[in-house]
Amino acid sequence: STFQDLGLNDDLLQAITDLGFTKPSEVQAKAIPILLESETDLVALAQTGTGKTAAFGFPMLQKIDIDSRTTQGLILSPTRELCLQITNEMKLYGKYCKGLNVVAVYGGSSITDQAREIKRGAQIIVATPGRMKDMISRRLVDISKIQYSVLDEADEMLNMGFKEDITDILSHTPEDKNTWLFSATMPREVATIAKKFMKNPQEITV
Ligand code: AMP
Repeated sequence: STFQDLGLNDDLLQAITDLGFTKPSEVQAKAIPILLESETDLVALAQTGTGKTAAFGFPMLQKIDIDSRTTQGLILSPTRELCLQITNEMKLYGKYCKGLNVVAVYGGSSITDQAREIKRGAQIIVATPGRMKDMISRRLVDISKIQYSVLDEADEMLNMGFKEDITDILSHTPEDKNTWLFSATMPREVATIAKKFMKNPQEITV
């Protein structure tokens, strides 16, 4: 299949051409049509390096309302490094989405600066759980209008002890949002989280 076959819009296809991606990876070919065509939860078993960032990133970029400044997409990732990497990729993928603001929220960096960026209007926030929870409790961010939430490297986040933080964060998001969970492995803890937070998720494995 081609990216065009998957149903991506011209802004995204142009960015894909610029990036030199010639064809969708397996996880992209499986996840993108599901996420574009339906409002569904998703559990995807995929390792890093498989192109999973674009597998959730392209559909999120296509589905959110970029003319609105409301925060509609939330991507949680285990580490600062991964958070920054995802943010960079989302900015590249969304380079032709005029008015798009993607903000990274992670510990070890000024919370005031991050809050200021969010205040300017971030449709998508990419965050590590600890700092995100902190920003919510200080009312520096409003995630009450989130429509799409991604738990990236869910197994790693749980290994690192972020279960409570994730639970707390998701409790501030709407019931009717969709959650897309990506994990390299499916230990019982991940299955439990999936069961607790997701409604009839579609499942894909690569
Ligand atoms: P990820 O698994 O999301 O960390 O992606 C791994 C790397 O593959 C990143 O550098 C992406 O920019 C790149 N990538 C993602 N999708 C494709 C694709 N369809 N073709 C070529 N490279 C890709």
